[in-house]
Amino acid sequence: MHFLQLAQGHVQRLFAYAQQGQQLFHTQVRIARDEKHDALMYPRESAALEHFIRLGRERLIAEEERFHGLLLTCGVFKVKHVDVLAQAVVVSVNQFDSFFTCLATVTPMAFSERVSRLKSSLIREILAAAQRPEVMSFAGGLPAETMLPKVEWDEMPLSLGQYGMSEGEPALREALAAEARALGLECEASQVLVVSGSQQTLDLAAKLYLDKGTEILLEAPTYLAALQIFQLFGADCLTVPQEADGPNLAQLRKRLEQHRPAFIYLIPTFQNPSAVRYSEAKRAAVAALLDEFGVTLIEDEPYRELTFDGGSAKPIAARLRKASWIYTGTVSKTLLPGLRVGYLIASPDLFPHLLKLKQSADLHTNRIGQWQALQWIGSQKYQQHLSELRDFYRQRRDAFQLALEMHFTDLAEWNMPQGGLFFWLTLKRPLDTRTLLDEALANDVAFMPGEPFFPEPDKHHGHLRLNFSHIDPARLDEGLKRLAAVVRRAQMERAA
Ligand code: PMP
Repeated sequence: MHFLQLAQGHVQRLFAYAQQGQQLFHTQVRIARDEKHDALMYPRESAALEHFIRLGRERLIAEEERFHGLLLTCGVFKVKHVDVLAQAVVVSVNQFDSFFTCLATVTPMAFSERVSRLKSSLIREILAAAQRPEVMSFAGGLPAETMLPKVEWDEMPLSLGQYGMSEGEPALREALAAEARALGLECEASQVLVVSGSQQTLDLAAKLYLDKGTEILLEAPTYLAALQIFQLFGADCLTVPQEADGPNLAQLRKRLEQHRPAFIYLIPTFQNPSAVRYSEAKRAAVAALLDEFGVTLIEDEPYRELTFDGGSAKPIAARLRKASWIYTGTVSKTLLPGLRVGYLIASPDLFPHLLKLKQSADLHTNRIGQWQALQWIGSQKYQQHLSELRDFYRQRRDAFQLALEMHFTDLAEWNMPQGGLFFWLTLKRPLDTRTLLDEALANDVAFMPGEPFFPEPDKHHGHLRLNFSHIDPARLDEGLKRLAAVVRRAQMERAA
């Protein structure tokens, strides 16, 4: 929760309107200016902090640097929602960032303390803003509409409407274990837990390991929604820089020597967002380090099958000799994300705990989706579909590369992804790419700023994640041209 000084008159009026049931959506609020306003932007200055604590008696604390950065440029906020009971106002700074504010003088909302760390997912909000059909979106990680396979439901037994097992459908667990063994991961079906998308694996792992202040280790950058859940549970997110072939090993060793992370979370195959695929050498080295220091591995592999230039690599979990591990995958990128079927495979010491967490989370995964997934996994039809998918995405990737060379060569650097769904651009003249969003959307282009993929966004300006799978090829060139123009304009403005 962000405590923020709104002019009291405004807030009281808002509550009064809300109590009368008046529509408050998009009412504008002007943030109270104050002679210490400048100081507010640097909350680490203790004088500023004290000042605001005094103003709000004990609770008025403005803490987030990014928010303070936005205060600089934006004095007018839009009210999204007023909660009369909790006496809270949710304001948005632009279309993407929302902040809770409370009247400092009233009791704050009666939510758990962890909710104060809950950040909205920027990507989900951008996707919402990009719903307009005219928007050319490079933002999501969505499969191409035309490549969603046609699925049949006629044969599905009606009994699947009944409650099922928390572990997942037995036949599906067997099929998933067989697939994992083919990758070199020694496991039995009894180690497979079917989950509601691999996102649920991250949720269960967070519940299993994290208390406030628990140290964990992540790649920098890393998957946005993993950060969201790990931070919600209070993790202290330590990072290891990502290089073109995997993490910087010297830094990884140093981190492991100096800290005792509860786990390391890695996406070694076509990482989201950087598209990096770890080399064989780095896979082996990472596994050896985790064994040496006894650190649990969470290996997340949604993009493994989307490989365009051949080559495959044994999972890191399959190389471990001692350390505990959770390996997770999904059908979201290869079949239908709407099925919400993912899976985790865990070392036997972890499995019973994850199973109990699954029981308490949602009893079991959607059986109808599991049935559909089972019609594909391990089948000839699935292999055929995967091969068509790879051909299709390879062509999209190649077309994207050409269009990028045309429009971004002077602006950014990137490596051509060998798989996955994203290009990761690094601007030659870095700027906070979040500040480009409004302008991009005004030009009907959506993209994903790079900053939120880092636990410390403000130390990592100047990256853009661009999805190449979803955009209609007929609009690709125009979309990138407009985006490049937005970047160029912003850079000129800053230089002026
Ligand atoms: N992990 C990573 C790295 C992802 O990119 C995604 C989806 N964007 C997920 C997990 C979650 O996928 P799902 O829940 O749809 O299986």
